[in-house]
Amino acid sequence: MPGGTGRRLVLLNRDLRLHDHPALRAAGAGGVVAFVLDEELLALPTLGANRLAYLLEALEALRRACRGLGGDLVVRRGRLGEEVLALAGAAGASELHATRDVSAFARRRQQVLGELCSRAGCTLVLHDGVGIVPPGSLAPAGGDHYKVFTPYWRAWQEVPRRPLLRAPRSLAPLPDGLEPGRIPSLAELAGGGRQADPLGRRNVPPLVLEGPSPLRQPGGERAARRRLAAFAEGSAAYEADKDDLSREGTSRLSADLHFGCLSALEVEARLAERSPEYIRQLCWRDFFLSVTHAVPDVARRDYRERARHWRRDDAELEAWRGGETGVPLVDAAMHQLEAEGYVHGRARLVAASYLTKTLRHHWREGADHFLRALTDGDVASNSCNWQWMAGTGNDTRPNRVLNPERQARRFDPSGRYRARYGGGAGAP
Ligand SMILES: Cc1cc2nc3c(=O)[nH]c(=O)nc-3n(C[C@H](O)[C@H](O)[C@H](O)COP(=O)(O)OP(=O)(O)OC[C@H]3O[C@@H](n4cnc5c(N)ncnc54)[C@H](O)[C@@H]3O)c2cc1C
Repeated sequence: MPGGTGRRLVLLNRDLRLHDHPALRAAGAGGVVAFVLDEELLALPTLGANRLAYLLEALEALRRACRGLGGDLVVRRGRLGEEVLALAGAAGASELHATRDVSAFARRRQQVLGELCSRAGCTLVLHDGVGIVPPGSLAPAGGDHYKVFTPYWRAWQEVPRRPLLRAPRSLAPLPDGLEPGRIPSLAELAGGGRQADPLGRRNVPPLVLEGPSPLRQPGGERAARRRLAAFAEGSAAYEADKDDLSREGTSRLSADLHFGCLSALEVEARLAERSPEYIRQLCWRDFFLSVTHAVPDVARRDYRERARHWRRDDAELEAWRGGETGVPLVDAAMHQLEAEGYVHGRARLVAASYLTKTLRHHWREGADHFLRALTDGDVASNSCNWQWMAGTGNDTRPNRVLNPERQARRFDPSGRYRARYGGGAGAP
């Protein structure tokens, strides 16, 4: 990295798009765009096949888009620090640009990059871009973050938005000698060996992965933008339909937002006029990013210590995971998860309430299972929603229990959702 030619390296993470991308814009058309399949991330037990499949598709889509503009996407696999150092050296980079993130894992990653840059005499520039209002930028008087949604929502609406950024019109070709690297397939990652290394340099161990869900949503910026356009058409009905389990009334953009194939700011701009209720949901996402920014280990420990007595019963937990509790709406939610790598938000609440409040299993058991199985699995949204439902999080009514029968009568009165996902047709 030292002695760089002034070129900028953009290290992507979960910001896999060309539109409205502050780090990419700052690096300019001459920037080298790279992604590292980080060994440490690949080894996490909560990384499942659905998320990995979406990620690989998003990388393929981005590479196609970069090539269409004259540039490329460089892909490596290995230890983050070593790979970035090698890439920066090969690219002759003196600046490293990346998008700032909030989880404990992301913070460590940023720290590694910071240390690496200071050792190598290069500048690390972190940009906002995962949320609409940057996490950490809003705090009440006398506190470091909002602990309750409504005051956050009020303050959030008042924050001026930065202008949206256009996608680059062209990108420079890679510097001579810099190999783009292959994007391995999911099967290669699961099989290990040289094929799973983008440069075919070394044997890497296989990943422990169950197969992806048969009906999962394909990944990538192009697919995401198509979904956004289709949803925007009918989004005026969102408020009326969003809790109706039998309809496809929600956007299904959560994975696209998680991987940054869509900029949340752009989604807000597209939908602000048509669906104010939708904007409130996007604010929940920002709220939980802000909570996670303040409490980065929210995925592991109680946000609020409450005297909860959790039970441990492996057979019961297995039945919940497998959709075999005998409670139709809970089972339908878990079957939807298995089939699609996605669960309707209302059904997520019911499945989480049942596990934590009725069966009294620790919220982490549910959160880890969801994180591994969901394509949109997101540390901030997942952990904070689980804690919200378990009563250890930001809920102002920590003892609320959702009765699955009543929820089914109210949100799936025709029984269509339960019938579709094998949770007992027509039965409550
Ligand atoms: C137990 C539990 C676990 C969850 N885990 C995740 C997760 O891992 N990843 C994730 O993205 N969402 C999670 N959610 C939040 C929410 O259920 C999903 O974002 C939503 O159902 C995704 O479907 P959609 O895109 O059609 O949502 P829409 O109803 O169309 O909402 C639009 C967008 O707003 C955001 N949003 C909506 N509701 C919430 C919420 N409660 N919290 C945070 N953001 C929200 C999402 O980005 C979503 O895509 C979880 C909710 C619960 C109750």
